[in-house]
Amino acid sequence: MSPKPAHAAAPVMEVFASFQGEGLYVGQPQVFLRLAGCPLRCRWCDTPGSWATRMDGQARIEAPEGTLREDRVASPFQAALWVAGVEPGEPRTVSVTGGEPLMWPDFILGLRSMVAPRRLHLETAGAHPEALARVLDRVDHVSLDLKLPADMGDPVELTAAEGEPAPIDEAAPVTAEDWRMARRRCLDLLQDRDACAKVVVTADRDPRDYDELFEDVARRAADLPVFIAPVTPVGDCAAPSFDHLVEVVEHARELDLDVRVLPQVHRAMGIA
Ligand code: SF4
Repeated sequence: MSPKPAHAAAPVMEVFASFQGEGLYVGQPQVFLRLAGCPLRCRWCDTPGSWATRMDGQARIEAPEGTLREDRVASPFQAALWVAGVEPGEPRTVSVTGGEPLMWPDFILGLRSMVAPRRLHLETAGAHPEALARVLDRVDHVSLDLKLPADMGDPVELTAAEGEPAPIDEAAPVTAEDWRMARRRCLDLLQDRDACAKVVVTADRDPRDYDELFEDVARRAADLPVFIAPVTPVGDCAAPSFDHLVEVVEHARELDLDVRVLPQVHRAMGIA
């Protein structure tokens, strides 16, 4: 089997086996494939090391026999070999995360057949609906972030050097209206799909600020389970109180949403 052409390659930060710490499949043993490159700037980001594409870096491969360092730019074929190499036992669901993995839709499309028959899950920030539409029929589950525009810094344009794989040119949302449009288009795409939504809640936002997110879910993908994730404290982002969470949750419940509160379990366990 020959490797995929270069246009389907992507920068891989790390590949490791762990337990899913968020969303609908929480607790499930999975393999995580983290791609580099994210144009967004969430104020609670816990993986700023994934922002730059950094093609010249190395990928960390956590194989059972020890950590391997490999050239970062990988074809889907190479990535699938790494996935198989880190599995401690039977094949696992593969969760493609980032960064923002939708920077690399051709890589995700190529990965589909390479990791079969494993399930392929996608974790996305929900800022690039055109890229999501491209890969949607080729992934088995989508975990979609719903973000308050006020929590987002200005996006940064990702570039690639001559001869390197280039991220997509779909522009990231900038204004609150851009974010609203992107969110609604993503929710339309996920209607009746195997998917869930995640809303990170911080102490300094009014519980009613999240209403616009919940109202969009109720109108466009009402069956989507919505996970409320109290922020893991970072920088000036403090975790909400119990009462604060209750208020947020009750607003979602007023819209008849399937809402659940779930902190980042992998953080609580102290694992990757
Ligand atoms: S989308 Fe993810 S990687 Fe990008 S800034 Fe937000 S939390 Fe960080």
